[in-house]
Amino acid sequence: MPNSQPSPRSRPQLIPIRIIGGGLAGPEAAWQCARRGLAVTLYEMRPQRNTPAHETELLAELVCSNSLKSDSENSAPWLLKQEMRHAGSLLMDVACRAAVPAGHALAVDRLEFSRLVTEAIAAEPLISVVREEITTLGFDDAGFDGVTIVATGPLTSDALATEIQRLSGSERLFFFDSISPIVEADSIDHSKVYRAARYDKGTADYINCPMMREQYEAFIAALAEAHPVQPHDAQTADGHDWDNAQYFEGCLPIEEIARRGPDTLRFGPMKPVGLRDPHTGNIPYAVVQLRQENLRADSYNIVGFQNHLKFGEQARILRMIPGLENARFLRFGQIHRNTYINAPALLVPTLQMKQHPRLIFAGQLSGVEGYVESIATGLLAGLTAAAIATGAESIAAPRASAHGSLTHYICNADPKHFQPANITFDLLEQLDEATRRKVRDKKLRHQMVCEHALSAFDSWLQQLAELLPTS
Ligand SMILES: Cc1cc2nc3c(=O)[nH]c(=O)nc-3n(C[C@H](O)[C@H](O)[C@H](O)COP(=O)(O)OP(=O)(O)OC[C@H]3O[C@@H](n4cnc5c(N)ncnc54)[C@H](O)[C@@H]3O)c2cc1C
Repeated sequence: MPNSQPSPRSRPQLIPIRIIGGGLAGPEAAWQCARRGLAVTLYEMRPQRNTPAHETELLAELVCSNSLKSDSENSAPWLLKQEMRHAGSLLMDVACRAAVPAGHALAVDRLEFSRLVTEAIAAEPLISVVREEITTLGFDDAGFDGVTIVATGPLTSDALATEIQRLSGSERLFFFDSISPIVEADSIDHSKVYRAARYDKGTADYINCPMMREQYEAFIAALAEAHPVQPHDAQTADGHDWDNAQYFEGCLPIEEIARRGPDTLRFGPMKPVGLRDPHTGNIPYAVVQLRQENLRADSYNIVGFQNHLKFGEQARILRMIPGLENARFLRFGQIHRNTYINAPALLVPTLQMKQHPRLIFAGQLSGVEGYVESIATGLLAGLTAAAIATGAESIAAPRASAHGSLTHYICNADPKHFQPANITFDLLEQLDEATRRKVRDKKLRHQMVCEHALSAFDSWLQQLAELLPTS
């Protein structure tokens, strides 16, 4: 890992930098500042005050899936990660060291990942970690006079969320997100399941639980009758209207997907195509996939099975899945509130607030969705903070890059109907019409978009290196 002692070319720090939130975006932002020889204070409220989803006091805790999405070359999530690797991202470096087998995806041992990030941040002399909840930002009074990154995530504490609402003058926004269950590996009946990669492409890292038509139909019927968690239940009691919950489309609970039609799950997380069962030689009617959770391979995540059912109901229904009849659950599915600001109305592409340029937003709170997207905006926010703190010009990531595409989306979406977004190919700058007509092969077109993006990102990094030299 790079050493962060100030180099002779580093610019002097004119004002202090504080970062609020030690999840995914915060530590990456802190690291980027430290790499440029700048001192940072990183505030994290855990363990003094917890969130409904975090279970440890470690920095960079992954609260649900252990997947950092596709690492297939020339896909949009790969591009975003690749740009971060070019920018010397701490969390990408650690993800590589904590990786577990997951086919084309980059998945990590979640504990190892958080432990390594926590260790790296603790070992960095320019970063001071303070375990304290921040409740005010002090931008319109005689409070803090430096640059602040707010990276407190979808579960920002209530007091700070109220403060952000006051400063932004806008309504607080919510939608609902859910987490999927985890089973113990030795409680899976391996005689009923099989390992396979879809269409035999890549390594067979996932465990597949095959369902015949009758089993699938019985499962859907049980889901339809299952009892959801009610607002008065302890695990969801935060006063919100669950019946009218607005879910993030990319993370729907299975009972909500099932409500949309009897086959919707079979075309979604239970899609069987390309997963031939070696026991029967057939493609099953539906498949439930299990992804390895940690390096010891002693637990598996039920992929895409986030839900909002009572724990007893979950155990009963999930044990209907072939191979999971005697499953022991390490964690049940849960659902949580998600908070984000109305970025198109409030932010500029350097992630600074229009009204308060020394206030920068990063992570899920800034209007992106997903682990990798949160880390990416943390990286950008760190660079913006470093520029402000040293009096350098802050330059937004180029539109052509995946980072620039994310910030372009959050700053230019319709503020009236704003919803956070994952990085997808649709967000990236497309090839011009003439080139699109000339190049018919989609794979080649994607490769060209990614090459252009990486080259634009690298030029931007070079420009930054002149303004903000790394140590
Ligand atoms: C339940 C749930 C499940 C999710 N599952 C997935 C998933 O499977 N895959 C995926 O890609 N994304 C998922 N997400 C979305 C998102 O990627 C993660 O929430 C991600 O961790 C966001 O990163 P972040 O840095 O913005 O926030 P976080 O990682 O949540 O970090 C914010 C940190 O700020 C701290 N904090 C909060 N308020 C204060 C305060 N006032 N003072 C000091 N510290 C404070 C918190 O304790 C926390 O450590 C999920 C989100 C939720 C809520």
